[in-house]
Amino acid sequence: MNNKLNAKERRHLANVKELPCSLCDAEGPSEAHHYRQHSQYTCIALCVECHRGAIGWHGTKALWRIKKMDEIDALNITLGRLFS
Ligand SMILES: [Zn+2]
Ligand SMILES: [Zn+2]
Repeated sequence: MNNKLNAKERRHLANVKELPCSLCDAEGPSEAHHYRQHSQYTCIALCVECHRGAIGWHGTKALWRIKKMDEIDALNITLGRLFS
């Protein structure tokens, strides 16, 4: 797998990172969570807490359970905001 991002992928990631958090709507800049490693176009915009926080996606996921959302729900929000 080629890990190097091309210009289009870099631009897409930069756009994702400008969005608010797809889970809690915290104002951007956000981090880009990779739904699948090396797949840039399925990245999800998340704030630090919802992403890497103790109860975020890479933690216990409690924040996600409270919102009753999974990665695809959040990706849908990220993409909806990108294309609006
Ligand atoms: Zn958040
Ligand atoms: Zn992540």
